[in-house]
Amino acid sequence: PYDVLVVGGGPAGSSAAIYAARKGIRTGIVADRFGGQVMDTLGIENFISVKHTEGPKLVASLEEHVKEYGVDIMNLQRAKRLEKKDMIELELENGAVLKSKTVIISTGARWRNVNVPGEAEFKNKGVAYCPHCDGPLFEGKDVAVIGGGNSGVEAAIDLAGIVKHVTVIEFNPELKADQVLQDRLHSLPNVTVVTNAQTSEITGTDKVNGITYIDRATGEEHHVELQGVFVQIGLVPNTEWLGDTLERTRFGEIVVDKHGATDLPGVFAAGDCTDSAYKQIIISMGSGATAALGAFDYLIRN
Ligand code: FAD
Repeated sequence: PYDVLVVGGGPAGSSAAIYAARKGIRTGIVADRFGGQVMDTLGIENFISVKHTEGPKLVASLEEHVKEYGVDIMNLQRAKRLEKKDMIELELENGAVLKSKTVIISTGARWRNVNVPGEAEFKNKGVAYCPHCDGPLFEGKDVAVIGGGNSGVEAAIDLAGIVKHVTVIEFNPELKADQVLQDRLHSLPNVTVVTNAQTSEITGTDKVNGITYIDRATGEEHHVELQGVFVQIGLVPNTEWLGDTLERTRFGEIVVDKHGATDLPGVFAAGDCTDSAYKQIIISMGSGATAALGAFDYLIRN
């Protein structure tokens, strides 16, 4: 059996595995796809102390660092069930059952897609999901934010300070964001809000050059010329496979304490799959370290 079994091989899981293995305890890491969301990222400019890097390059260094220690890496393996008996059992989709004294869940999250033509095609070519990450790339340009909930409106307020103009496109007849955010949004001179609008296409040639939406009241089609589209219709944690085994928020995020512990003794969690306030590479790595140290503490007490 393992002392620490990490589920998920993104920045949170890699960091947890390194911190655990450096304690000289038996550590394994199971990942559906090593690298996680970072594999899908082109430019990274907010990983502190590295001015600019690219996703796959950062993933290669993560992997190299993990391999520096005797960590069992089980890549291309999906976990499907977790159960606490005398040990914690993790069942994989291939039927194997792994046993460990502690488990750190770091299965990350995925941005909800709008699933319109152009979205996949122009990902990283004008279609973006993270205003903290990619906002500065659109300085002085025109962009749209799809989604008028809290994250969409926060993104629009954030972007309005950087870009030339922001169009917010909300499907429902009203914005869903908190009133204070809506008030702030409406006070900005370079923001237009379009409600009751269904995005039908993100247009472009080699990169984004516009967005098309349908006015749901009249059925009329409109096209706005712009250079960027931020999709803000939700970040979904990859925690469905856990069912009711541990406490999750109504959004499905795993609830953790300041040691990264869940409500199931011996099970810890880190990164975007948890209820952490912000989802970023550097934050995931910090919480991975916290969860590993939390697990180590648990091991020496049990
Ligand atoms: P993830 O990176 O999501 O990793 C999850 C891991 O778990 C993966 O290995 C996955 O395969 C695995 N997994 C999932 N389910 C299972 C399962 N059932 N069994 C086994 N393994 C499983 N952040 C920044 O700080 N700067 C940026 O510039 C930036 N740009 C971004 C651009 C894009 C396009 C995206 C999508 C995100 C960006 N982010 C950026 C956010 C950042 O990538 C995430 O915050 C970070 O990757 C979260 O790390 P994580 O380890 O918690 O999860």
